[in-house]
Amino acid sequence: MSNTNSVVTELLTAFPQGCTQMYFKSSLTALSHAMEDQVLASDTEDEQPLIIASFQKERFYRQEAHRYGRIGTLSPHVYVLAAPETEFSSISDVYEKVAFTEDDALSHEWHLVIIGKNYATCLICREKTHLPKTQASEMAMDNSRRFEGIWTFDRQVSQKAAEILLHRIAGYRPELKKKINQALKLYCQSIPDKSNVHQFDVFDSPMINPDPFVQRLITYLQAGQYKLIKANRFLSVKEKKERLLNSVTDAIRRSLNPQEILQVAVDKLGEGMGVCRCLIYRCQETDLNAKINHEFLNDKIKSIKGKTWPLKNNPLFQEVLDVRESISIDDVTIDSRIQDHSSALSKLITSCSIISWLMVPILYQGKLLGMMELHHCDAIPITWKPEDIALVDAIATQVGVALIQAESYANLENLNEQLEALDRTRSNLVAITGHELRTPLSTIQVCLESLANEPEMSEELRQVMLTTALHDAERMRKLVQDFLTLSQLEGGTVEWNSEPLSLEECIDLSLSHIRSRQDQSVIPTIKNLVIDELPLVQADGEWLVEVLTKLLDNACKFTDGSGQITIQVQEIDEDTLQITIADNGRGIEPEKLDQVFDRFYQEEGALRRSAGGTGLGLAICRQIVKNWGGKIWAQSEGKNLGSKFHFTLPKFDASSINTNRNKKNSHLSSQESLK
Ligand code: ADP
Repeated sequence: MSNTNSVVTELLTAFPQGCTQMYFKSSLTALSHAMEDQVLASDTEDEQPLIIASFQKERFYRQEAHRYGRIGTLSPHVYVLAAPETEFSSISDVYEKVAFTEDDALSHEWHLVIIGKNYATCLICREKTHLPKTQASEMAMDNSRRFEGIWTFDRQVSQKAAEILLHRIAGYRPELKKKINQALKLYCQSIPDKSNVHQFDVFDSPMINPDPFVQRLITYLQAGQYKLIKANRFLSVKEKKERLLNSVTDAIRRSLNPQEILQVAVDKLGEGMGVCRCLIYRCQETDLNAKINHEFLNDKIKSIKGKTWPLKNNPLFQEVLDVRESISIDDVTIDSRIQDHSSALSKLITSCSIISWLMVPILYQGKLLGMMELHHCDAIPITWKPEDIALVDAIATQVGVALIQAESYANLENLNEQLEALDRTRSNLVAITGHELRTPLSTIQVCLESLANEPEMSEELRQVMLTTALHDAERMRKLVQDFLTLSQLEGGTVEWNSEPLSLEECIDLSLSHIRSRQDQSVIPTIKNLVIDELPLVQADGEWLVEVLTKLLDNACKFTDGSGQITIQVQEIDEDTLQITIADNGRGIEPEKLDQVFDRFYQEEGALRRSAGGTGLGLAICRQIVKNWGGKIWAQSEGKNLGSKFHFTLPKFDASSINTNRNKKNSHLSSQESLK
């Protein structure tokens, strides 16, 4: 029988002069426990007090069920009330259970009434506010729940409270009517008139010695306080970790540069976890080693940045790969995996002073992207707590996502560049077919039609027609060839075979190309001023000869037969050579010096071309030189004052000889196997 009247209100109606107080939940818990202990500690066998405890919900009762199991054995008049959630129901057990409905005012109240022969006490309160609960602060919220009500040792007030509650119980458990009447008679009769009392006295019972009660109350209050401190500490640690995760996530999400992402993550993680050393490195499952590029260091510890870190021969790395999750070692000196002190792993541990070790893989959809390592290097080992590992795991997940995002962005940019190159190729194709190819094609067509339609044509004219058609066909072939070459270079589809080369040999080769091509016309004098014993250069031989030939070819085209061309080489720094092809020909106007490298740039325009050529030669040279990281530029004092074309070339680095030799051998062996 639900009753929406508050017990607190009913009691105050009976005692209008009574004053309520505010209690935090922790104080109510302490008070209730101290009051219950008063019953449990009673040494009078015939005490048999009346005890009525009303819990708001079954879950609060469950925490005290064991205690009430003991209290129930001390008296036949023990009544426990709660709003059922799962199992709680109205039943007679060791004590009487009373299940009230959710809409009963009892749902928001907290009552404990104890009436014995020697003392009587009651705690009658209702919850003040019902704050909405959020997951993160649930514990803090629970402790800050507030109640308003009465706590007293006043027998008269306690008896009235018992009477109100017993009537409520009778409503829910009518079958207990007889027992309840008996309780009312036994515990609630002879209520002296207290209506002239202004305030409830806490210790009003003449029989009670307050000392043990106060002692117990203080103990419970302190226990509550300790629980609160513990909860706060837990919350602040949790909050600190959440803040660390958020700050790492926030920082790495702001960048699309993988190196920056890893550096930010290693710094924040190392600092946030307070470890001696934190490493993050990129690696794949099959890698032999990794290079340490990102390290956070506590300043007392030796740096291993730039060093090679073993993976293939590191059993811990292999274990992470097997289990595909983090592994932690609290103390390397007693870990079973590191018992062989002569092993490479033991030596690594000693050289890096590692005591406690945490390895967390950076995975994305099961694929290994890298590894995070936390090293503790102080003499006293630390214990990696599951929540610490979970936090680093969460950061590794974020780093994985950020890396994939950065890579996708880079791929997108790459794709974009390819698309742009493709678009350029398409525009070139339109230009070339629309303009450059149509001209020679028309000439060829006219010549061939004349030859076909005019059988009377003189032999001499026929010869001119044929020569013109052949000449333009050759021009078209060159144009198409240069166009395709440039498209391949710009589209990045060329395979480069970079190797140590003798520059002198490449120059000789291109000179012989020039001489064989230009054999019918008079070419300017070419002076090769290249000194002997030049260092080897690192480039693709075929493409280097192509650049030299194109520049020499231009120099010949734009210089009179009486002019002069020189080839010179100088070392501009310890890694680079500069090649210069100079002529004293028609020169280039200063404002055109950059434009000459544009596609189809020709000073006189394609239609009025006197020197032949496609207008693509220098654009091709620029792409080739760009590939080996060099520069190409033109220099001229102006019209008819000659031109100089310079480009740079890397010298062969002798320290990479082994790598190159290996590559060459594998190249040769693969060629052999093909034969
Ligand atoms: P082309 O096939 O027309 O030579 P290039 O790309 O090689 O095409 O050269 C572009 C233009 O640059 C030439 O048409 C010419 O106007 C100018 N140029 C190139 N080399 C020289 C040079 N050595 N002297 C003067 N002008 C030059």
